Amino acid sequence: MDCIFCKTVDKEIETQVIFENEQVLAFEDINPQAPTHLLVIPKKHIPNIQEMDMDDKQQLLPEIFRAIQHIAEEQDLDKGYRVVTNCKDNGGQTVNHLHFHLLGGRHMQWPPG
Ligand code: AMP
Ligand code: ZN
Repeated sequence: MDCIFCKTVDKEIETQVIFENEQVLAFEDINPQAPTHLLVIPKKHIPNIQEMDMDDKQQLLPEIFRAIQHIAEEQDLDKGYRVVTNCKDNGGQTVNHLHFHLLGGRHMQWPPG
């Protein structure tokens, strides 16, 4: 499968890995939009949040959020941060492997563009 995030999981594409366990990988976004901009992904290929099955929702999603919480502590994001997942075209998704942007280190604006 020609998926850049699967290649990242397989270490075929080099990234700055911030966190890794059996199911989850977090690495630096190549085009950071904040002082901290990480991508937290399931190692399993899931195209987007809409295509998570029941097992993904019950087992994997909590693992992803456990990782996000852990990373936020490690990265000193105690002042706050934003977690975003873009879903399909209207959501602005450009990489079709489920990922959660973890943005921090500055004050975020609302609404997003
Ligand atoms: P989205 O637009 O929500 O699908 O986000 C995709 C994100 O992946 C963007 O913020 C890109 O900057 C980022 N990205 C694309 N290729 C890479 C890569 N090889 N390593 C790290 N981040 C990447
Ligand atoms: Zn993938």
